Amino acid sequence: MSCTSWHYGWVPDPSSFSFTVGTLLEGRHGRSGVITTPHGTIETPAFIPVGTKATVKAVLPETMKELGAQALLANAYHLYLQPGSDIVDEAGGLSRFMNWPGPTFTDSGGFQVMSLGVGFKKVLAMEAVGVQNDDVIAKGKERLAVVDDDGVTFRSHLDGSQHRFTPEISMGIQHRLGADIMFAFDELTTLLNTRGYQEKSLQRTHEWAQRCIDEHERLTAERSHRPYQALFAVIQGAQYEDLRRKACSGLRAMRGGAGTGFDGYGIGGALEKQNLGTIVGWCSDELPEDKPRHLLGISEPEDLFVAVENGADTFDCVNPSRVARNAAIYVDAGRFNINTSRFRRDFTPIDEACDCYTCAHYTRAYIHHLFKAKEMLAATLCTIHNERFTVRLVDRIRASIDGSYFDEFKAETLGRWQGRIRNP
Ligand SMILES: [Zn+2]
Repeated sequence: MSCTSWHYGWVPDPSSFSFTVGTLLEGRHGRSGVITTPHGTIETPAFIPVGTKATVKAVLPETMKELGAQALLANAYHLYLQPGSDIVDEAGGLSRFMNWPGPTFTDSGGFQVMSLGVGFKKVLAMEAVGVQNDDVIAKGKERLAVVDDDGVTFRSHLDGSQHRFTPEISMGIQHRLGADIMFAFDELTTLLNTRGYQEKSLQRTHEWAQRCIDEHERLTAERSHRPYQALFAVIQGAQYEDLRRKACSGLRAMRGGAGTGFDGYGIGGALEKQNLGTIVGWCSDELPEDKPRHLLGISEPEDLFVAVENGADTFDCVNPSRVARNAAIYVDAGRFNINTSRFRRDFTPIDEACDCYTCAHYTRAYIHHLFKAKEMLAATLCTIHNERFTVRLVDRIRASIDGSYFDEFKAETLGRWQGRIRNP
């Protein structure tokens, strides 16, 4: 671990970031590999737990390490608003600030700026489902973000204050946050946007990507006291094959003024579950094999298998911890709620087969009691289990690729998972 020596005389070295492909999944884009960063390595495929505000809610960073997390992802938007990226910079970067010595990712802030702003997903008008309209928004919800060709003006969800993100501002924030892997600032669209808007948005995202890579080059040279930070482009294009392929080839060819290319690629934007594999596959067809591919926002077992098979190397998702705080537990046979009364006298672990700290030391009856009593420890214990479940599943997928039994492992795992639980 090199993170004790980088304050003095450290010159950011792009070669301190690399990706090595391991075993290929025969006839498909899936593979195992290793991402090397200044803060350590990530064996891929890997699940990257989300610590939105530089903390995985309710769990110590040390515990995340113990349960096998190889890297954490934080949100630039949230850290920009609170405590401010200058404070994280002064602390020595995200890794030092949160006492997580391993690799870190930050997203560009674009998703939060636009999704918290325009009511994407949560507050879309119900009557608009299945309709394509660029102005869809739920009644009574004020539009909090306005996109123009230069950037996005938005209101803080914390205090309503007005802010503006541009590609340059996002790069500045992410350089100050200091994560090993950052994402270019992109425009988020939804499946409800029209084809015409998707095309326009893609052009805008392409122009923003160029501005990001130029600014990234400038900041890398200016901030030579810091370790190298890798920049991933983000591929949009919704459900349209031609748009996805065009986005990939454009971003693949893109260079900064000094010749820097993207270090990796994020597959973002609107995805329908049934198209996930197809869309990741289109992108993998077009992207260079020697660069890592990150898929933003998935964690369900069936999605993980499909994404890996089609060429995604890393994934992040807030769900394992978010649902844990609502008493939802993942086990091999599906998902169940520990809050229901049948667990009052169940003195067995959440999952007999699980190797997490919670399952080694605590019973369903105790965790059920903690939820009923509204004790904070309930969230801690369930988050440990769900994060371990997801990290371990992806670790097992990696082992199955290396051991040439991916298809058998997928069939067995999904057979159990999709059977769902009757009586956990
Ligand atoms: Zn467990």
